[in-house]
Amino acid sequence: MKYIGAHVSASGGVENAVLRSVEIGANAFALFTKNQRQWQAPPLKADTIEKFKRFCAAHHFSAEQILPHDSYLINLGNPEAEALEKSRTAFIDEMSRANQLGLKLLNFHPGSHLKKISEQDCLSRIAESINMAVEAVPNVIAVIENTAGQGSNLGWHFDHLAKIIEQVEDKNRVGVCLDTCHLFSAGYDISSYEKSEAVFNDFNQTVGFHYLKGMHLNGSKTPLGSRVDRHHTLREGTIGTEVFTFIMRNSNFDHIPLVLETILPEIWADEIKFLRTLELK
Ligand SMILES: [Zn+2]
Ligand SMILES: [Zn+2]
Repeated sequence: MKYIGAHVSASGGVENAVLRSVEIGANAFALFTKNQRQWQAPPLKADTIEKFKRFCAAHHFSAEQILPHDSYLINLGNPEAEALEKSRTAFIDEMSRANQLGLKLLNFHPGSHLKKISEQDCLSRIAESINMAVEAVPNVIAVIENTAGQGSNLGWHFDHLAKIIEQVEDKNRVGVCLDTCHLFSAGYDISSYEKSEAVFNDFNQTVGFHYLKGMHLNGSKTPLGSRVDRHHTLREGTIGTEVFTFIMRNSNFDHIPLVLETILPEIWADEIKFLRTLELK
């Protein structure tokens, strides 16, 4: 069973993300549980939490079908002590919000060294940040997203993901989300079925499919290895669609949220239908 959806808007309240997902024929979704461009947010109200849980139950969304995303401001590998502390506090708050909503996953971009510390040091800081968060908040798995490798962002290479996981104490509380646009921009050639198979074999050997907790399905506007993060629609752009055929026909991608972050929300329903046509019936 494939869980397919999109990163839908939660404006007007997180419970609205459920209804927007129903409208586009999704059986998975991603959302921000607070404004992603601000550090502070008012706590979730009891009434909002109750509605979110009730809507999820009514429309058959279980926690494994939902992948909340944290704020873009957070850098869990920040080289500066004070800024790192601020990010860790905000991340713990994001974990706690996910837990309050009955969710089991939290997707985040690992972090940046800002050219002030070594890659290894930055990866260790990220792992330490995860250790602190999983100790502070129960139940929720910290799901590291691979990046396009823009600027000094780490997490674009499978080795980075493996190095972080290696230093996380509770392996049951860490996972990975792979974004197809980021893979391609980072230099992983997924432009054909065979090449996709090779890249995911590499992922399995370096990290392991058992850590895969979600996927972001996106086209890319930039060429292979550009190290630039520019999403496109699913069927246009530089990657082509064979990688999506590979994903839809491979059981390693069953029972995890497959989330569109493509650029035209008005065609999400159509993109979901397209993905369904790729499944082996
Ligand atoms: Zn993504
Ligand atoms: Zn992106």
